[in-house]
Amino acid sequence: MKVPQFLPWIGEEEYAAIGDCFARNWITEGPQTQLFQEKLLELMQVRFGVFAPNGTLAIYLALRALDIGPGDEVIVPDFTFIGSANAVEMAGARPVFCDVHPGHCQIDLASAEKSITPRTRAIMPVHIYGTVCEMDAVVDFAHRHRLLVVEDAAQAIGVHYREQHAGTFGDIGIFSFFADKTITTAEGGFVVTNNSAIHEKLLFLRNQGRKERGTFIHPEIGYNFRMTDLQCAMGIVQLEKLPEIVRRKQEIIALYRQLLQSVPQVRFFAPPAHAEWVPFRTPVFCERAHDLMTFLTSREIESRTFFFPLHRQPAFRYLQDDSSYSHSLEDGHFPQSITAYEDGVCLPIFPTLGIEQIEYVCATIREFYG
Ligand SMILES: *Cc1c(COP(=O)(O)O)cnc(C)c1O
Repeated sequence: MKVPQFLPWIGEEEYAAIGDCFARNWITEGPQTQLFQEKLLELMQVRFGVFAPNGTLAIYLALRALDIGPGDEVIVPDFTFIGSANAVEMAGARPVFCDVHPGHCQIDLASAEKSITPRTRAIMPVHIYGTVCEMDAVVDFAHRHRLLVVEDAAQAIGVHYREQHAGTFGDIGIFSFFADKTITTAEGGFVVTNNSAIHEKLLFLRNQGRKERGTFIHPEIGYNFRMTDLQCAMGIVQLEKLPEIVRRKQEIIALYRQLLQSVPQVRFFAPPAHAEWVPFRTPVFCERAHDLMTFLTSREIESRTFFFPLHRQPAFRYLQDDSSYSHSLEDGHFPQSITAYEDGVCLPIFPTLGIEQIEYVCATIREFYG
């Protein structure tokens, strides 16, 4: 039996929705983009939102709308997808890494506090693996240190903390609709804010420095961050499936828990208090994790490692050569991020994953620890 790590759940309905765009002869930003945006704002209970071509560019757009750029530092967890930090670099600012919590891998504020300098402008809580950071504490921390809050909620659509949607706690939040995210438009991103001045800046930045199309007078510098009606038509269908996606993913996690509870070498990821969990992966901490993954591969089960710590990324070595960068990239500052990478395994999860496949994965894990 083959078990892939992930398969997007797309089919006839998405295909028909794209076909409707052809029938309407409207393929770029238009009525479907408008409707998808309205539905997302309703779901998230947030005032403003604009699209971006993908999640990485959504973060870039968010940072630019907050006037974050050269000379500024942004605190980013050491344990996240590299896109979170690359977007900071793209905006001309510097990422500063901090450690994460053991157990749920969300940002560790005690570690973040040690990274603050006069250059620090913002903190980027990343809602890892489909749950939410402890946002009460993050918002309080940001107020105390006069920092802006940029939430990377790429993996957290449909996820709430104390009944408030992820991405809506800070000054600005972003989402991704990449193929393996909770809902997908193939590629796509969304930036949300409750602040009308920030929203204005987003509108200018994403539309060549003007607010409306149809004029060639551009008061500001801006760029093109459009999505297309083809993508948004697909997004609307995906959004209708979201409750079912959430239900299935939570059932899958419950079954994994049940089938692995007798395996002491496997410990489950535990979301923070007051945070929902719509599993983006099936993250578990395992003994001999990397050997286990090799074994799973030999049985045609596709697993993934956790994220490779950002402070060890070859791409960020340049930071150490910069005399204005006062932060150390030594392993000693990031023990939990390193442990997460060493012990973490992502088991397959996607809405159409079958019960027999989950049973096969768990039987194979039990066999490995035999
Ligand atoms: C996917 C992801 C991104 C980047 O989104 P893209 O749409 O792939 O550019 C950023 N941050 C996190 C945490 C992600 O999971």
